[in-house]
Amino acid sequence: MDGALVRVTLSLIAPALLLVFGAAFFAIWFFFRRRAFLLHLAAGCALFAVGAVSQVLYWPRDTGLNALCSGVLYTSAACLVVQGILARAGVRLPWLAFGVFTAAMMGVLWYFYYIDRNLLVRVYALNVGMGLLFCGAALRMRRAPRRRRVDTALFVVVLLFGLHFLPRTLLSLGARAPQGALAFADSRFWQLLQLSLAVFSVTLAIALLVAIAADAIDEVRSEGDRDWLTGVYNRRGFEARARPQHAHARAGAALIICDVDHFKRVNDLHGHQSGDMVLQHVARALSGAVREGDVLGRIGGEEFAIYLPDAAGTEARAYAERLRRAVQDAPRILGAEISVTISVGVAQAGQAETWESLFRRADGKLYQAKHAGRNQVVA
Ligand code: GH3
Ligand code: MG
Ligand code: MG
Repeated sequence: MDGALVRVTLSLIAPALLLVFGAAFFAIWFFFRRRAFLLHLAAGCALFAVGAVSQVLYWPRDTGLNALCSGVLYTSAACLVVQGILARAGVRLPWLAFGVFTAAMMGVLWYFYYIDRNLLVRVYALNVGMGLLFCGAALRMRRAPRRRRVDTALFVVVLLFGLHFLPRTLLSLGARAPQGALAFADSRFWQLLQLSLAVFSVTLAIALLVAIAADAIDEVRSEGDRDWLTGVYNRRGFEARARPQHAHARAGAALIICDVDHFKRVNDLHGHQSGDMVLQHVARALSGAVREGDVLGRIGGEEFAIYLPDAAGTEARAYAERLRRAVQDAPRILGAEISVTISVGVAQAGQAETWESLFRRADGKLYQAKHAGRNQVVA
């Protein structure tokens, strides 16, 4: 094979890989339509591949036009990928910011081709621009609300991806641009660019795929912990959070169990569907009344529990009283004919009391509240 053919073939490896990853992002989007950021990633990969093909195959066949054409494709591809990464993290930027960035890059490329022709400046502008774009993205990712290990790993990969543009250009190109298209294609800069871009973009794409898989696993896991009717934790989700907290809790923790009064009557008189609405109504009232850090769950048919990792003496009782009143006073969406009240049992944890014992005592207090006439708190 002659040298030119080898060069062209090697130069097409990175764009081909990106096309494969772009297709993968598109395929995942196809099954998870809610994640629109996957489309940004897919489109970014595709645009980058088109840009590379345009540059490598030298189409359009005019050097200035080709530089601008591949330049705009590379820049918008990078913007799409960055916006995809940011959107996944929940910290996307306005599209206008990317528009301004792309326009500025194109302005520089145009000026240093048509006004003051300088290949070296164009190469540096493109590389520094890309580096700043990805480093900026990494900085912005630090504002993301989620900070799991996979998010940190992706942050590091994006930061390294951004950082690698500058030293690579400095080390391989230095201060002199190769003269002529052939010399450029044969230069150490171009060869190293092909290799490092292939390695770094594959690393970035795989890191993104891992993060997307982790997101999906998290979502399934948290759905399994939620009660689909009311949106609060189900028994599994409640215990998964409250039990480990209780294992480390000092005395001062408390458990509150609430049970809707005469709920069977609601079902019998108004139908099961109205019963379901009453449960949603109670869950909403309780959710609005619990404090941050306390764990609320629907632990049975019409039973809710709240675990307070930190509740001093009489406070738990007052707190339970607030919950009872919140349910009683919550605006009725069901019509005034259904009155909804709860009975509440409160148990204050003793020194080193087990979860089971605490639960049994709270349940006992609830039983007492029912027998004392319902719609009240027993602590
Ligand atoms: P008490 O005041 O003594 O607690 O009386 P109650 O009628 O609330 O208690 P009981 O345990 O006799 O009845 C609970 C009812 O809750 C029976 C069951 O059909 C109903 N239930 C359980 N889960 C659901 C649900 O998800 N939706 C609806 N609509 N009803 C449910
Ligand atoms: Mg009941
Ligand atoms: Mg019950």
